[in-house]
Amino acid sequence: MAMIDVIRSDEMSRLGICADDDCEGLVLDLSRNRSRRFCSTACGNRNAVAAYRARQASGA
Ligand SMILES: [Zn+2]
Repeated sequence: MAMIDVIRSDEMSRLGICADDDCEGLVLDLSRNRSRRFCSTACGNRNAVAAYRARQASGA
């Protein structure tokens, strides 16, 4: 039973909320380096575009 508890707690640590401010989608990060932040590529792309525009606007 202890083994199952470990697996469950590990899965919970991989479960989060989408990093998109306007989205509350669940993110289950199964990537090895835990780099996943968005529930979908649509949210990821939207934020990538916003970050790009913010960089452009700041004149960097
Ligand atoms: Zn999302």
